[in-house]
Amino acid sequence: MTTQKCAACHRNALQDSKYCVDHKQASDSVITQYKAWVDAYGGISWQDFLGKLSAMRETGSWVKEVVAVELKK
Ligand SMILES: [Zn+2]
Repeated sequence: MTTQKCAACHRNALQDSKYCVDHKQASDSVITQYKAWVDAYGGISWQDFLGKLSAMRETGSWVKEVVAVELKK
């Protein structure tokens, strides 16, 4: 079994994820927020949403690191 590194830091990733436990949690919360945002405001793209999220002061550093990884795709 090969151990993968987290896409956002140098720790080992979880088996079923490209992220470590903390970044996985951050990633899950980003997806949840995105769904809530789409429900509330309609068609915002994933990329636009990530851009807005990274510009918000309230956004935590775990989430910002996940956003940076997602925007690189
Ligand atoms: Zn990580």
